[in-house]
Order: sequence, then C-alpha cells, then structure tokens
Amino acid sequence: MPDTCTLDTVTLDGSQGEGGGQILRTALTLSMITGTPLRLDHIRARRAKPGLLRQHLTAVQAAAQICGARVDGAALGSRSLHFVPGRIRGGDYRHAIGSAGSCTLVLQTILPALWFADAPSTVTVSGGTHNPAAPPADFLIHAWLPLMRRMGVDMDIELLRHGFYPAGGGEIRARVTPVAALKTLHLCERGTPLQARAVAVVAGVPVDVARRELTMVEAAALGAEVELRVLPAREGPGNALLLVDQHSEVTEVFVAFGERGLPAEAVAARVIKAARADRASDAAVGEHLADQLVLPLALARGGSLTTATLSSHLETNMEVVQRFLPLRFETTKTAQGHRIAANPAASGQPSSSCQSQTSFCIPPGVI
Ligand code: AMP
Repeated sequence: MPDTCTLDTVTLDGSQGEGGGQILRTALTLSMITGTPLRLDHIRARRAKPGLLRQHLTAVQAAAQICGARVDGAALGSRSLHFVPGRIRGGDYRHAIGSAGSCTLVLQTILPALWFADAPSTVTVSGGTHNPAAPPADFLIHAWLPLMRRMGVDMDIELLRHGFYPAGGGEIRARVTPVAALKTLHLCERGTPLQARAVAVVAGVPVDVARRELTMVEAAALGAEVELRVLPAREGPGNALLLVDQHSEVTEVFVAFGERGLPAEAVAARVIKAARADRASDAAVGEHLADQLVLPLALARGGSLTTATLSSHLETNMEVVQRFLPLRFETTKTAQGHRIAANPAASGQPSSSCQSQTSFCIPPGVI
C-alpha cells in the first residue's frame, strides 16, 4: 500500500463514456484498494447537475475516513478531486448523506475496500434506500450480495428503515469481515427458476395503490407470490413495487416507483415489462448487475458473465477498472447478447486499452 510503494497518480476524465457518478465511485474504490492516488476532473459532467452532490460527497468522505486519505476538492458542487489514499482500516463507521441520496451507492463504494481491511467493519449509512437511477436496498440484498458471497465475501446487509426519494430518512447497515482472496465467478446462465415474489410497499400513500399494483402483477401471470407491505407513514411518502426473481444462479430485482400523477397500473406495467424482457433473454445477468459485477470480477483477477445489453455504464466501468488494474476486459458478441470476460494482463502492466503509463503496486494478497 502507499507506505510500502510509490505509485503514479491515475488521472481520469469524469466526462468519459457514461459521465456519471459511477466513474467517481469505482475510481475511489480502486484508489483505496491499490493504494493509487487519484485525480478526477469533470466530475459527473454528463449529468444535469454536474459535480459532487451529497451522495457523491458522502462517498468521498466515507472513503477518505476508512483509509485516512488526503483529499482536495471534497465539497458540494466540486468538479475536481485529488484523493491520496492510506491504509484501509476496519472499524465501526456511520455516514449520513443528509438528503435522499442513495445509501446503496455509498455502500458499494466502500464495502469492496473493506473486504481488504485489517479488521472487520460495520457501516451504517442514512439517506435514500429506494431511489430512481440507483440500486434499491432490495437489489443489494437479493441480487448483489449473494453473488459477492459466492466470491468468498463474508458480508451481511440489512435494511433498517426505508427512505424514499425525495424524503430520504432511510438507513442501511452492512457488516463485513475481510477476505483472504476472492474466488472467480463465471455467470453464463441464470439457471432454473426457483421463486418469484412481488412486494408492493407503501408509506404514507393509500394502501389501495399497492393493491392495484399487485393485482396487475397477478394478472401478468409471472408466477410471483405477492406481498403488500404497509410501512409507518413517517417512513414516507413513498411507494415502490419490487419483483424479486430468483433463479438458481442469479436473482434479479426489478423496481418501479410511484410518482404523483402516475397510475398504480403504470408503475406495475414498468416492473412487468422489465421482468418479461429479462426472462425472454438467455443472458445470465441484467443490465444493472452487469455493470456492478465489473469491479468484483476484476478484484478476483478473472471471471465472466453474459448479458443482453452492453450498457454505457458497463463499458465505462470496464474502462475505469482497466486504468487501475493489470487486467483487460474482453467483450464478445454471442447468441445471448454479450459475453464479458475479465482476464489478467499477461505482463502485469495496465491493459493495452489504457493510454497512461501508470505503474502498479498491488498489495500482496489483494490482486
Ligand atoms: P451513475 O448513474 O453513474 O450514478 O450509476 C448508477 C448505478 O446505479 C449503476 O451501477 C446502475 O446500474 C445502478 N442502477 C440504476 N438503476 C438501478 C436499478 N433499478 N436496479 C439496480 N441498479 C440500478
């Protein structure tokens, strides 16, 4: 790590590819794990409100705290960041986003780093747990976490209290024990169907909204058990319809949120459409899991998946990972869509798609 080796700074352009917060989060995680200083400019340049919003600032502060980093540019609205990491320390961490910013995205930034800490950790993050354009807590728990466990990660994630956008006020806690080494993961197919469960959640919203959503799900004949969950009004206002579709290899979680002026039937139709499209595909993982598996596969020094869509998040995330690790992603067009394989670069140097001359000093036992 930094006190045992000297590393060149990785400089990234936050406007590349997808140009969103994921570039920042992946870069922070890999900066911590590899001990490589990070310079990031044009942060979230392709978003309507560029720069660091509360969620991103919390991710930076959380990352800085767990590794004692030196940071310049950690301020709301900042479009540039310089992050010099230190050694990752396990501990009991608490982070408040202070808005409905996504707790799950903050957790996905720091949990992989804590897999390689010197001691176990608990991390509690408060803010939004069910946000548009972010993994809902249920996705982290039912889709992402089981795959991380298969890779050898000892981790629990618990939803303590729902927080819907824009009210926030939710809370998630994760417990992590460091891993010696990650196992590679190959996801070629999703496997046999095991169980489908639709949950309509309402907080401070009429129960009838949830009932109508579940009626639509039943009529769609997806074979899903249905559950209506009424939360205390103080956890709202909010409404989410979640469909947890479990297969022997992969579980997917589809979500849609109630909005003012959007009929419950339209909310349900979004989830049904997403679930049907996924089932109609032969690929192992959906669009969101695909981009979120890039980093774990890279940390395991290999692995592969098939996915129907080559999303911009997925492509950008592969590019960012390749800037930090001696590894290259290979994308092949297949009958199922696309196969993504993470292969260690032969020379131990950055992959050929990387333009920088960055050298690597990876902590022993990590990469
Ligand atoms: P960014 O837009 O760069 O902040 O990244 C958003 C992240 O949230 C990506 O990893 C997306 O795959 C993920 N994401 C967005 N919507 C969902 C969803 N409905 N379920 C799971 N993950 C999601």
